[in-house]
Amino acid sequence: MENEARTHVLIVPYPGQGHINPMHQFAKRIVSKGIKATLVVTKFISKSMHAETGKIGVEMISDGYDDGGFTAAVSVDAYLSRFTTVGSETLTEVIKKQQSSGYPVSCVIYDTFIPWALDVAHGFGIQAGAFFTQSCAVNNIYYQFHEGHLDTPESYAAADPTLPISIPGLPPLRPKDLPSFFYAPGYYGAYFKMLLNQYSNLKEADWIFVNTYKELEVEVVEYMAKDSPLRTIGPTLPSMYLDKRIPDDTDYKLNIYKPDSSLCMNWLNEKPNNSVVFVSFGSLAELGVEQMEELAYGLKQSNCYFLWVVRATTEEKLPSKFKEEVSEKGLIVRWSPQLEVLAHPALGCFVTHCGWNSTIEALSLGVPMVAMPQWTDQTTNAKFVQDVWGTGVRVSVDENGIVKREEIEHCIKQVLEGERSVEIRKNAIKWRNLAKEALGEGGSSEKNFDEFISKLTPTPE
Ligand code: UDP
Repeated sequence: MENEARTHVLIVPYPGQGHINPMHQFAKRIVSKGIKATLVVTKFISKSMHAETGKIGVEMISDGYDDGGFTAAVSVDAYLSRFTTVGSETLTEVIKKQQSSGYPVSCVIYDTFIPWALDVAHGFGIQAGAFFTQSCAVNNIYYQFHEGHLDTPESYAAADPTLPISIPGLPPLRPKDLPSFFYAPGYYGAYFKMLLNQYSNLKEADWIFVNTYKELEVEVVEYMAKDSPLRTIGPTLPSMYLDKRIPDDTDYKLNIYKPDSSLCMNWLNEKPNNSVVFVSFGSLAELGVEQMEELAYGLKQSNCYFLWVVRATTEEKLPSKFKEEVSEKGLIVRWSPQLEVLAHPALGCFVTHCGWNSTIEALSLGVPMVAMPQWTDQTTNAKFVQDVWGTGVRVSVDENGIVKREEIEHCIKQVLEGERSVEIRKNAIKWRNLAKEALGEGGSSEKNFDEFISKLTPTPE
């Protein structure tokens, strides 16, 4: 017990909401086992945190842009290269400080977006665990490309759109089911490089964790775990949510934006069960003016209640007077307590960009989806939502890449009340139950997590 108390895990997420959330939850789970965990965030992120993190310690590193974070950099390349240099130096300082404290670091769990953290940990002779915040299917696609087993993005962009692409552990995919980098080559060079870089030193990782559950992606998980220490530990949500119960200690403390919690929950409390469409595109995706207008009028035409998260930076793209026009049916907020919203009985469906966190949250809470992917891995997640897990429908885009209002209305109706809705709801319940089993006693994710905890080496006296 003495030894256990001296075990100390550092958790280092990439500074984005979709990375901080699952890794913060992972830290909470470690702390719940009586082990010390410290979350390491950038100075810029620490300024936007809204409260204390309870029993979890917080340490700061720098990405080299303490005042503006990512948006202060001239390019993605510039940001990532400075983060690699300054991040490595400042993480080294953090570890040195801990090594001379009563709780030297036993293990560093690092986000695969910042693989240099593994090198820093190993430089101290400390174990390093890689943490993937994407699905296992998506990991495998990038991995196969990294290993030279897939064609170039240019060739997929030019290929017949029905071309079936065969990848071990995955169903046949078409070019547009791959992450967007494969069919929009050239647009996001530095991002794509970062995603491929996740595998640069992965073979040296002592642990590899993925925020998914085995049952959801069984074939690809088994394929990838064959020759590696890959383990599924998701969903990283507190298991209470899966029973649609809300913990007293809700988890928006590390949110970059402050949620309009009571406004959202009071509004939802007045709505009938399964009646509300929740619309959110996560923390990064930016819809264009035309797409915002189509979405706005698609929601209005559906005649459903809707709760729409429009971040402050996007608000000016809302059609003028739209809020007034829909005040009877719609509530528009800048940020929501998403887990509470998804767990609310009034919720009928989720119009989502299919960021991996939003997707796995909806799957685990049994919420049917209208998948409206924007870029990166969202396109692959949308494919799985519709065709593999059967918990939603994916919107079609017109020749200019816009999802028209009629299509949005049609998809919402299909999910809420159309012929497919019965099957979709049945599947949603199935995946929620399997998520509960994975996290429950003896479940696949719980067993993997316990194995990690039991093998953590306590720091010798
Ligand atoms: N989120 C939230 N409130 C909102 C919108 C999003 O708490 O109004 C959370 C959501 O629950 C998820 C994260 O922000 O955990 C977004 O991650 P995701 O991977 O879905 O998208 P990203 O922001 O990375 O594109």
